[in-house]
Amino acid sequence: MGELGFMGMMVPPQWGGSGMDTLSYVLALLDTLSYVLALEEISKVDASVGVIMSVNNSLVCFGINKWGTDEQKEKYLKPLASGEKLGAFCLSEPEAGSDATAQKTTAVKDGDYFVLNGIKNWITNGSTADVYFMQAMTNPELGYKGISTFLVEKSFPGVEIGIKEDKLGIRGSDTCTIGLNEVRVPKENLMGEEGSGFKFAMETLNGGRIGIAAQALGIATASFEAAVKYSKQRKAFDKPIADLQAIQFKLADMAVNTDAARLLVYRAAKCKDEGKKYIKEAARKEIY
Ligand SMILES: Cc1cc2nc3c(=O)[nH]c(=O)nc-3n(C[C@H](O)[C@H](O)[C@H](O)COP(=O)(O)OP(=O)(O)OC[C@H]3O[C@@H](n4cnc5c(N)ncnc54)[C@H](O)[C@@H]3O)c2cc1C
Repeated sequence: MGELGFMGMMVPPQWGGSGMDTLSYVLALLDTLSYVLALEEISKVDASVGVIMSVNNSLVCFGINKWGTDEQKEKYLKPLASGEKLGAFCLSEPEAGSDATAQKTTAVKDGDYFVLNGIKNWITNGSTADVYFMQAMTNPELGYKGISTFLVEKSFPGVEIGIKEDKLGIRGSDTCTIGLNEVRVPKENLMGEEGSGFKFAMETLNGGRIGIAAQALGIATASFEAAVKYSKQRKAFDKPIADLQAIQFKLADMAVNTDAARLLVYRAAKCKDEGKKYIKEAARKEIY
């Protein structure tokens, strides 16, 4: 996928990426793939591969490209955007899921380093990633305003890969716990100002929703195509069940709902590319 330019699609070529915008990231390589949607098409076949790609692009490359220093981009973004390395986004904790402000992972300054301690949960690409976009409290008394973002390498001593979750779906994408036990992170791996981590995480997740929505769209499209195919194969009362109106109604609803979802995804991506607000657009979903 790296060789095909799928792992850093919105990152400028200068930093190893494909230099596309969000809509092209969803629509991807229009010229060469004949108007096919990259993430949708990939997720149609394997949604696990879709989520691996989506996290690397939307949650890791996006943040480093937007807030990283040139040194951080050279060292981390280039290999991530070209697919040589893989990234993961570490926000959730056992007691901090929807309420991301309840984080307990700490980062304490010690000379030229920050020392990180804590646990991150449900991390996509957790065991396979090389680099973590990691949130930790540099100033716990300030609450969410005391959260900062660090670039943590898996190879740093004290990074402990925990249990891989035994999930119901997207099982080809690993989701696991990451333990941080006295991990010394060089101060140059702090992203932006201390205390800006929560803002970075929330903004990153807004864009991440567009990628995950495109993944869901791929799954819905593949499901619809499978349903149409089966309804033409399966016969009852000497004719394919596709000829029965009860089945046609179901297929028609699936087609319309998938199309509505597609338009919601495109609109959110377009708003993002045009620099408009897209929080609401990225969060909206079609209700089946
Ligand atoms: C497959 C998978 C991959 C993931 N990958 C990552 C990753 O890469 N990085 C990462 O940091 N995290 C990741 N997560 C974690 C994910 O972000 C959290 O699961 C999510 O934030 C929800 O947190 P929680 O599971 O602790 O649920 P809780 O916060 O305990 O919420 C449980 C339920 O409570 C209800 N609820 C909670 N808050 C509200 C509210 N304000 N209004 C109404 N209802 C509410 C909802 O029904 C919600 O579903 C992943 C999770 C999964 C399942």
